[in-house]
Amino acid sequence: MRSPRRCSRNGCPRQAVATLTYVYNESTAVVGPLAAFAEPHTYDLCEPHARSLTAPRGWDVVRHEGEFEPPPPTTDDLVALAGAVREAARPVAPRPPEDDHGPATTTPPTGRRGHLRVIPPTH
Ligand SMILES: [Zn+2]
Repeated sequence: MRSPRRCSRNGCPRQAVATLTYVYNESTAVVGPLAAFAEPHTYDLCEPHARSLTAPRGWDVVRHEGEFEPPPPTTDDLVALAGAVREAARPVAPRPPEDDHGPATTTPPTGRRGHLRVIPPTH
């Protein structure tokens, strides 16, 4: 189980999208996509901090070009997603009548509600 990774800068609440790695023997700071695992001499950074990073004196900064991808979903999200996919792939089974107005977890956000069908508005 993982928790969402935060920017390692003091007091920064944003989610980390990049990893800063110090390559000491080359005096280079590398700002790259978020690393899968935290390692020594690496620091997770949010996008603003990754963009605004400046190297210490005498150091080079190698910065990942392009957009920083948001980190992959947490394990919890993946489990929920896998469950939703299984649910969608499951053959339609007769539902007990009390499910027609059951809790939201058994009702798709759009689509069928009882015998009514929600049609998204067209623009
Ligand atoms: Zn930050």
